[in-house]
Amino acid sequence: MDELVLVFSGFSGVGKSTLINHLLSELGDDASLTVSCTTRAPREGEHDGVDYHFISHDKFDQLVRCGEFLEHVQYCGNRYGTLKSAVNDVLRNKKICILDLEFEGAYSVLHGNAFDFPCVGILILPPSLRSLEKRLRARHSETEESLKLRLTEAFQPKRIAKYHHVIVNRNLESAKVELLQIVKSYIAK
Ligand code: 5GP
Repeated sequence: MDELVLVFSGFSGVGKSTLINHLLSELGDDASLTVSCTTRAPREGEHDGVDYHFISHDKFDQLVRCGEFLEHVQYCGNRYGTLKSAVNDVLRNKKICILDLEFEGAYSVLHGNAFDFPCVGILILPPSLRSLEKRLRARHSETEESLKLRLTEAFQPKRIAKYHHVIVNRNLESAKVELLQIVKSYIAK
């Protein structure tokens, strides 16, 4: 099996993490999720080096200056970045590297494909824009303006076009099957 990078994006609450975890359990030792760096504080139950590398803004700046990131973004007041070394570590030990990125980071990775091997973008969407809007409103985390911005930004054709596959999560079990079929089609190549 050749090396493969899978880039996942989707709004929170859309089932992205569940689908990634399902894929990880199905692929076993053949795949791993990279551990990103973030300046946000750990949530309860999260561990440094496992969920994220939780680092300071200064350390983050230093890594940016040294060119250590494959991509990095500012998102909801915090910074997130994928270390080139994290991707290489996964690919050295396993075959499939999974990245879970917000839209901007995913766009930069998919747009600039920095790899010599397949890098496949998979976008997970909710069944309708309305259901997504309802979910985002229910979280009370958005202002009217930021809600509109997030919805329009996410559905920009130029962004969506960068993904190789779009999975609409109408039913979790079907979405799991669809995802596995997609990934297996690359493994078989
Ligand atoms: P959370 O703070 O809830 O763990 O993550 C917030 C968002 O940041 C999620 O959409 C997640 O996919 C994204 N994210 C996590 N790590 C990275 C990263 O290294 N780069 C980018 N661009 N997004 C990330």
